[in-house]
Amino acid sequence: MEDIYIVNGEIYRGHQFRRGNLEIRGGKLRCMAAEETVPAGARVLDAAGLKVVPGFIDIHTHGATGIDVNCASANDLEKTGCFFAKNGTTSWLASVLTDTKEQTEWCIRQYHLYRRGERRGAELLGIHLEGPFLASAYKGAMPEELLREGDISLAEHYQKLAEGGIRYMTVSPEVPGVLEMIPLLEGIGIVAAMGHSGADYATAMRAVRQGVRAVTHTGNAMRLLHQHEPAVLGAALESDAYCEVICDGRHLHPGTVRLIIKTKGTDRVIAVTDSIMAAGLPDGKYHLGVNEVIVEAGDAKLASDGVRAGSTLTQKLALKNLLSWTGLPLEDILPMLTENPANLLGISDRKGFIADGKDADLVLLDDDQEIAAVMVAGICVSDCNVPGMEYRRA
Ligand SMILES: [Zn+2]
Repeated sequence: MEDIYIVNGEIYRGHQFRRGNLEIRGGKLRCMAAEETVPAGARVLDAAGLKVVPGFIDIHTHGATGIDVNCASANDLEKTGCFFAKNGTTSWLASVLTDTKEQTEWCIRQYHLYRRGERRGAELLGIHLEGPFLASAYKGAMPEELLREGDISLAEHYQKLAEGGIRYMTVSPEVPGVLEMIPLLEGIGIVAAMGHSGADYATAMRAVRQGVRAVTHTGNAMRLLHQHEPAVLGAALESDAYCEVICDGRHLHPGTVRLIIKTKGTDRVIAVTDSIMAAGLPDGKYHLGVNEVIVEAGDAKLASDGVRAGSTLTQKLALKNLLSWTGLPLEDILPMLTENPANLLGISDRKGFIADGKDADLVLLDDDQEIAAVMVAGICVSDCNVPGMEYRRA
């Protein structure tokens, strides 16, 4: 792969933008010193003042563009990744909705096939298992008959089959056996999140002490805060766990998003999409795992009971919504899509930051926060649609 130099970019480092140049060699970044010059004849992308930020990381999505993760082949996963990349997401976890053991195993095998090939688009980092150790009272789109009590041997089985590819799992702390399995999940390389939960405050706080590190779609499919019984939402807000937020304007009122950010701080909030196969497609009938879903005006709901079932959101739109709802500067919003998910998953040595040696996963933004270009491992995956921004030779 040929080296590329990005010059005249407003580079996002240390939560600030500063004019600078980047070298991309072998898909990795190096920040060039101010006095350093680009070698003669090198391939150069003139960012001409565009903002250069780390690629977004989506740790919770069920698919997009007609593809549902629960039945996505390896090639489908790649197609989904290409859609994500156009929307600024350069790496992601495939969220497998609670399904049969056989189908879950099939999903894991598709992930393996995906990893074996040379792939385009956003990098699939691994699998997020949303279930099956979840509470039926807060099941959302989970098939009730497939929910089960905590069982570390099943998690171990999946993780072994995935060769460590299960990175994240949503569990309900009040389900028998779950509190005990939380520290064991950490031991097999799975970051535990709590969600789909009616846990009381004490149980949820205990789950955090046991090692829960995040909260799945905060405020949705969970028992809410009451002044006498703060419940799982209260524990989510009070503890240091990362809080997933779905910023589509439907799952959370903008005021709730502001409240979560004010309570948690910008270093503990993660903007996820929880998108389904309908993302990027018009309204109509779709499915989510085993469920039929109807999308009207972009709002996805179960055909059976009208319960909201994922979103049609992209991280590109989540960024814009966060900016307009909070009035915070881009510098403060970006960690919620980049550093925070990288820190949660323990991949900040490669992802989430612009620094020497990190993967060259980059998004170039114009003054309206429109995406001008996206790179995954130094390869441009979207059309460069800003006039004058083209590769040239130094
Ligand atoms: Zn989900």
